[in-house]
Amino acid sequence: MDRVIIFDTTLRDGEQAAGGTLNVQEKLEIAHQLEKLGVDVIEAGFPVTSPGDFEAVRLISEKVRKPSVCALMHANIKAIDESWKAIKKASNPRIHIVLSSSDIHLFYQLRKSREQILEMSRDTVKHARKYTDNIEFSAMDASRTDPAFIYQLLQAVIDAGASTVNIPDTVGYAMPQQFGAIINGVMKNVPNINKAVVSVHCHNDLGLAVANTLEAVRCGARQVEGTINGIGERAGNASLEEIIMAIKTRGDFFKLTMGVDTKQIYRTSRLVSDLTGFPVQPNKAVVGGNAFRHSSGLHVDGMLKESKTYEIMDPRSIGIPSSSLVLGKTSGRHAFRERLSELGYTLNDEDLNKAFTAFKELADKKKDITDRDIESVVAEEQRTVSEEYHLDRLQVTCGDRGIPTAAVRLIGPDGKALEDAALGTGPVDAVYKAINRLVSVRNQLTEFSVKSITEGIDAIGEVLIRIESEGVSYTGRGSDTDIIVSSAKAYINALNRLLSAKKAKSNKKTKSSKKSN
Ligand code: MN
Repeated sequence: MDRVIIFDTTLRDGEQAAGGTLNVQEKLEIAHQLEKLGVDVIEAGFPVTSPGDFEAVRLISEKVRKPSVCALMHANIKAIDESWKAIKKASNPRIHIVLSSSDIHLFYQLRKSREQILEMSRDTVKHARKYTDNIEFSAMDASRTDPAFIYQLLQAVIDAGASTVNIPDTVGYAMPQQFGAIINGVMKNVPNINKAVVSVHCHNDLGLAVANTLEAVRCGARQVEGTINGIGERAGNASLEEIIMAIKTRGDFFKLTMGVDTKQIYRTSRLVSDLTGFPVQPNKAVVGGNAFRHSSGLHVDGMLKESKTYEIMDPRSIGIPSSSLVLGKTSGRHAFRERLSELGYTLNDEDLNKAFTAFKELADKKKDITDRDIESVVAEEQRTVSEEYHLDRLQVTCGDRGIPTAAVRLIGPDGKALEDAALGTGPVDAVYKAINRLVSVRNQLTEFSVKSITEGIDAIGEVLIRIESEGVSYTGRGSDTDIIVSSAKAYINALNRLLSAKKAKSNKKTKSSKKSN
């Protein structure tokens, strides 16, 4: 088999790390984008962990038709029966059973013997076969498991009917050579291994998740598990975009194919970053803001003569919008719409009008409008949640001699204008305090980042924030040529999310209390 199966777990392992910031609609939006990217399997969640997770998996199973939709579950008959209900409507549902295999987990966590693990694995896989033959089995902490036991366990679950066997480096402990040796060992010592696809799932605690994954592929693994932007538990999972581009760029080395459309990588990365509130570091391979920026004089000289001199990938093959001038102040609606469709956006008339107005406002402030600017404008117009509050006006005074002061005017529910002012330790603090006086919901700011979308002093500044309220995180995003305005927009955006989540929750409560009456 010369095709690598791409298994995305952004919505399961990645979302675990995001602290439940994604609501059901946002998960569905990411799943649709993953479908466009062309991943083979979407692990949509861990249904038994929460009703929200169950609902997200159920909805994605119904709406996303091309990839296989997978749910993670414990090696437990009841959990399998329950989780199946979430994925049964998928076009190709996959059951993913996970059970620890290392002595360290068996002894300290599960308090079970190897024989008991074998029995549980066999029984649950057999049970799952009643529902589907698309079954994956994961031997948790495999990289720290006695190889002889791994062989025995995988043979048993394949016999019981598992079609994919996953070897995770759960704690990110393996070295590439050693991990490759584990895969080689499995290929050689599991007699029925040709009846299943060998998969790997690596974590990045030592920065080796992608390296370990690629070494495993070289040794015969044909499914790779990872997340977009490498988000995930602790230091994260293997970055899918890096694995994909390594296999593609070094086709001479791997000689393998994949079913993905790499041109969708950038948009997928951006969407995941925007919705989870985790910014992408500038020097991140493939999707970082500097990944295709050349600064050394010698390199720039080479690039101007022939891009192949210092560029091993074409940024267009990843779908990175160009940062050269495309539109200006005099560009009309038609040119704007054209450019949008070239970038892969199809907006309805109302969204197009809003985006065009925002574009015109931007063109008044900024001379050259690039694809990156257009992306930023559209992302903001497209992803506004139902808005309780809208920023109308903002005025700030700050500096090293004055006391930072902010006056804000919001349009609140029912179109009512609300105004207030506050002092702060800095301009952003003052703005947030003024907004808090108008929208009184308790919350804590846990992350704040600002980055520029393009080069130049008149560039758009994009602010990503996360706030926490009653143990749940909400993200917010705002962009403007003025970073204080971006900060205010990001905060209002996060507050709107918080409020709409609270509303949905109280609606559910009243409904269920009616039922019980
Ligand atoms: Mn994991």
